[in-house]
Amino acid sequence: MAENNVRYLLDKAAAGERLTPEEGLHLYAEADLLDLGMAADAVRQLRVPGNIVTYLVDRNVNYTNVCTTNCQFCGFYRPLGHAEAYVQSYESIGQRLAELASVGGTRVLMQGGHHPELPLSWYTGLLRYLRENHPSIELDCFSPSEIANMADVFSLSIPEVLTELKAAGLAGLPGGGAEILDDAIRSQVSPLKQKTDGWLTVMREAQRLGLATSATMVIGFGETLAQRLNHLMRLRDLQDYSLAEHGNGFTAFISWTVQHSDMTSLGRSKFSTNYGATSAEYLRHTAIARLMLDNFPHLQASWVTQGPKIGQVSLKFGIDDFGSTMLEENVVSQAAYDTYQRMGEREIHHYIRDAGYVPAKRDTRYNLLKVFDDPTESDTVPTLPETQPTVIPLMAN
Ligand code: SF4
Repeated sequence: MAENNVRYLLDKAAAGERLTPEEGLHLYAEADLLDLGMAADAVRQLRVPGNIVTYLVDRNVNYTNVCTTNCQFCGFYRPLGHAEAYVQSYESIGQRLAELASVGGTRVLMQGGHHPELPLSWYTGLLRYLRENHPSIELDCFSPSEIANMADVFSLSIPEVLTELKAAGLAGLPGGGAEILDDAIRSQVSPLKQKTDGWLTVMREAQRLGLATSATMVIGFGETLAQRLNHLMRLRDLQDYSLAEHGNGFTAFISWTVQHSDMTSLGRSKFSTNYGATSAEYLRHTAIARLMLDNFPHLQASWVTQGPKIGQVSLKFGIDDFGSTMLEENVVSQAAYDTYQRMGEREIHHYIRDAGYVPAKRDTRYNLLKVFDDPTESDTVPTLPETQPTVIPLMAN
């Protein structure tokens, strides 16, 4: 009976019908991994038909590592006054955007810690400086918890902060900081960070203002499958709302597994082996996300945390986008320095083609910039540039 029920639900999902949370949970717990993958791949073909796998040429920039929030899974932050604390200068960040533009990049994803002292004028001045000097680069900056921190520091409302930043050049918000949208888990691993409603409120306001947004999720905090489903349902509900209200919802969903090492409190904990998730769990979760997030057009691979081979496999589990080049990345790399790897545009082409798909470069809104039908064209895209993420001038504006 249960098996029949699983088959019925897989067929229902593969046909594009909406699953209830209870049905999703049943599939999550009971369905065979490969059956889930096939259903998710069928839904991928409904939402994004064809053989193209997209990617974005972008760069992460971390403007400051100063943070007051002390998340247990973070190896990146430093307290104010620490010898390794930094705030990058406008010129230093601008130099990184110039390097990005020189290899055909179109988007910077800029995030930082929760700095307790930087004023609003520092952020708006930075956005204006970058927009003026590097107009070809779209500015996707400041995850929801940073926006909430700014609202606290500036004594402004969330809409007021977002409106000021948008006027200065902000185009979108990264989806970072969602981790698990379940307050019981958030209270354990990041008790000082905004709770579920706070994250969703910032995204709702950003979408109302027409900003680009994406949604993220991290599994492996010891959460239950029901808690994972709740996260997905919260995203689906907000997406329903925003699309109905103003036609601007999340562009994509991306999930990954907790990364930890002796650089993080989680990794140093005597319970560290309780945290994390296997690649099989990642693939199962990816497939469930594709089935449940029926109002999300795109799902991104996380090769940064899973490695390029699992990134390839995930293309058969509902993923249609290989993510981005991340020419610079300082957060995952400091939580999982032993497994972290970088990949350039040419390497991404290789992995996409090797999995049987055609690579296509896109922009933040998933408009296709170039489809690489001809394999020989892959030889013309830049290789991984020499840019290294580790040298950050310790300067403040
Ligand atoms: S994850 Fe973000 S908010 Fe948490 S400690 Fe690190 S920098 Fe701060």
